[in-house]
Amino acid sequence: MKIVRYPHPALHWKSKPITEINAQLRSTVREMFDLMYEAKGVGLAANQVALPYRLFIVNVTGDSQESDEECVFINPEIIHRKGSGEGEEGCLSFPEMYGHVRRAEEIIVEAFDLQGRGFEITLEEMLGRVVQHETDHLDGILFIDRMSESARRELQPKLDDLETVYRREQAEGVCPADEELKKRMKDLEPS
Ligand code: ZN
Repeated sequence: MKIVRYPHPALHWKSKPITEINAQLRSTVREMFDLMYEAKGVGLAANQVALPYRLFIVNVTGDSQESDEECVFINPEIIHRKGSGEGEEGCLSFPEMYGHVRRAEEIIVEAFDLQGRGFEITLEEMLGRVVQHETDHLDGILFIDRMSESARRELQPKLDDLETVYRREQAEGVCPADEELKKRMKDLEPS
């Protein structure tokens, strides 16, 4: 498992709901937390490790010692949004890139935890922002898609660089072609 970077097709994938919470899923989640801490992130969606599951993890402290702060959201739905405000965001699939994104100030989310228990939670501030960013990932929507035209234009040279690196890796056979990657995603979809 590794964190994929833009423009890997998994990042534009609309993920499928998880139908079974089992030991394999719990081990996948553990591996995702380890990768997230290693990359110094605070959130990671399954799409970002090329898995087509509606699942993301969050720890706003970004600190593996603070395991009490770990949250797992399975099949999340944002059922209510209130207010709107801009804030800076980054993304582990876009290294060293930051930009302002407008998000709801308060949200209510429904999801399941790793024990299969349903929960509903009201979130605001940083956790609210991270959860909106990660929920977008599950729909194949990226933070650059939500930026203003000017913010996106500012980032374009860095996006072009990422794309160049990625296409070179494909040309050299380090990374499979998009068609093969899409086929793998399709094969991994929960039934
Ligand atoms: Zn992200």
